Amino acid sequence: MNPIVTISGGGIIGSYISLRLDSKNIDSIVIEKSINKPFSKENIRTLTLNPYSKKLLDKLGIDIRHSKIKKINVIDGEGTGQIDFSSEEINSEDLSYVVFFNDLQSALQKRVIKKTLFETQIEDIKEVEINKSCEIILSDNQTIYSQLVAGCDGRNSNVAKIASLEPFVGDYKQIAITFTVKCDLEDVDIAHQIFSEKGIFAIMPLPDHEELSTHTIVWSVDKAKILNQAPEDYVNENIAYFEKKIGANINIFSNILSFNLFNHHFDTYICDSTVLIGDAAHSIHPLAGQGINLGFADADVFCEELIKAYEKKMLLDKRLILKKYEIRRKNMNYLMLKSMDFFVDLFRSNNVYIKLLRNIGLTSVNKAGFLKNFFISHASGDNKI
Ligand SMILES: Cc1cc2nc3c(=O)[nH]c(=O)nc-3n(C[C@H](O)[C@H](O)[C@H](O)COP(=O)(O)OP(=O)(O)OC[C@H]3O[C@@H](n4cnc5c(N)ncnc54)[C@H](O)[C@@H]3O)c2cc1C
Repeated sequence: MNPIVTISGGGIIGSYISLRLDSKNIDSIVIEKSINKPFSKENIRTLTLNPYSKKLLDKLGIDIRHSKIKKINVIDGEGTGQIDFSSEEINSEDLSYVVFFNDLQSALQKRVIKKTLFETQIEDIKEVEINKSCEIILSDNQTIYSQLVAGCDGRNSNVAKIASLEPFVGDYKQIAITFTVKCDLEDVDIAHQIFSEKGIFAIMPLPDHEELSTHTIVWSVDKAKILNQAPEDYVNENIAYFEKKIGANINIFSNILSFNLFNHHFDTYICDSTVLIGDAAHSIHPLAGQGINLGFADADVFCEELIKAYEKKMLLDKRLILKKYEIRRKNMNYLMLKSMDFFVDLFRSNNVYIKLLRNIGLTSVNKAGFLKNFFISHASGDNKI
């Protein structure tokens, strides 16, 4: 096998890259560790796509059910600070779209199924000579020769380990709890986010919510607050607080999932022919729902650089393509990671001056158009570089 790109990881980002390259006749193969089985019908986990990510998917004909968010209302639950973001402020029809994780992953995987090898993983990558193919050995003893290895294998990237790339890792000491609910909120296209001592709580309309009034909740909580409690008990004890804040009744109707929250990032995304993309390169706090959008922006820039070189029939200069990708994406990703950390720390603090500052801060950002536009344009994906 001699595909131009070998992709480690057939999740959302790995499958997207394979499909996008295929649309330009650039051959790739996807190596996916898990078995090829249909996704669970139970849809709990959701993703928030920004308009840029949605546009990338539309261009490849990936059209899945989604709900539209036109406004986000952010409240400081312990104070008086408030800020709202609306799609009108960025002259866009919508601010973001909520999709089910399983819907998106399975729609993408189906389109690249013939290019995916399941139940195997990369064991070793042997560089022969710079700008020649490298030799990729799989755990089932197959060998592939490729120009590039795209590491899209998530947070504990296997290819990063093979390339001896070391991330820095931060522990938020929080868990994210997510579940779906029926809720009698009147506005169907508004998301609410509340920062409080009981955690960072976001409620967003689900796809098909118009018939069912269903919403998704993503709620991150300090582990110290939960102690030995089960997440379900914490949710049952504290949900009334948020019902009061949003002025609506919430009835849980799915299982409750929980995840430990960490961030990680690499000083460099590249080693010889290997490059890290999406969650393999970085993970951030889910408070602004930006994880997958950073991954799509990475994938877009990587494909753009590769396609540009390929279409000019240039000898593929791996170092140049990968360096351009890294320059365009690394600092943007790091900025987003640090911005999320800033918000987590700001709203975790019990210091009375910090509380005062954030009340004033949120309300004044709300009034200052240019600052709001800065935040929204980053979140909408306009600033991918
Ligand atoms: C609670 C929670 C809520 C979130 N909410 C949002 C949100 O609202 N919006 C948002 O944008 N993001 C959100 N995220 C983040 C988002 O889920 C991730 O950014 C996204 O899934 C990353 O996609 P990926 O394809 O890069 O990696 P992954 O989804 O991790 O996919 C990696 C793939 O690689 C495979 N793999 C792993 N190891 C190997 C190996 N050794 N060899 C081969 N294959 C391998 C895996 O099986 C998987 O298929 C959330 C995360 C959490 C935890």
